[in-house]
Amino acid sequence: MAVPDFVSPDAALEQYRTPAKVATDLLWEAHQEDEIRGRSVVDLGCGTGVFAVGATILGADPVVGIDVDPGALGIARHQGVHTIESDVADVDLDLVGHPVDTVLMNPPFGAQNKGADRPFYEAAARLLDGRGAAWFLALSKTEKFLGHQAARLGADLERIMDWPYPIEARFAFHRDEVRTFEVAGYRMGW
Ligand code: SAH
Repeated sequence: MAVPDFVSPDAALEQYRTPAKVATDLLWEAHQEDEIRGRSVVDLGCGTGVFAVGATILGADPVVGIDVDPGALGIARHQGVHTIESDVADVDLDLVGHPVDTVLMNPPFGAQNKGADRPFYEAAARLLDGRGAAWFLALSKTEKFLGHQAARLGADLERIMDWPYPIEARFAFHRDEVRTFEVAGYRMGW
């Protein structure tokens, strides 16, 4: 999977492309749980579309990518992703227009704006409407917060796997060339 990076990444939106290995690992786990092939999938905060493209390759149908950044959506569309431009706060089933079985997402980790991932869990809950699952990445140190979000939304939280997650310096405030974060893959299921 060679999905292009953001052309001019926006720090406030925490635009980091998921490393291909991490995206593939998470997609494969979801696939093994029978939550990709033949399923209706939404890639929330799709950026340039790595999860949407991967899900399509694994047989998901339909697949929709949603993001607030028109530039990133242009790149995703170029990969063949069907896209909708929206802030995650406004995402609901009416916007998507069909039922959703599985949500895939790599939300902002909240490094710039604390709690920036919270509207993503809420949007996933609205889309899934009491069934299905959201597969996502988060800093493992925020697991307690994630557990609270899941409980509040009536879901179960399961930690699927861990990766050392290198983030290359790309914004002016980054001091180190590469910093490695402890990131885990989670399944929030209803
Ligand atoms: N899913 C992509 C991008 C992850 S970066 C990948 O895995 O490579 C986080 C993405 O969330 C960015 O594309 C950013 O534009 C988007 N985003 C951040 N805040 C958002 C919001 N409030 N509404 C919609 N998208 C948002």
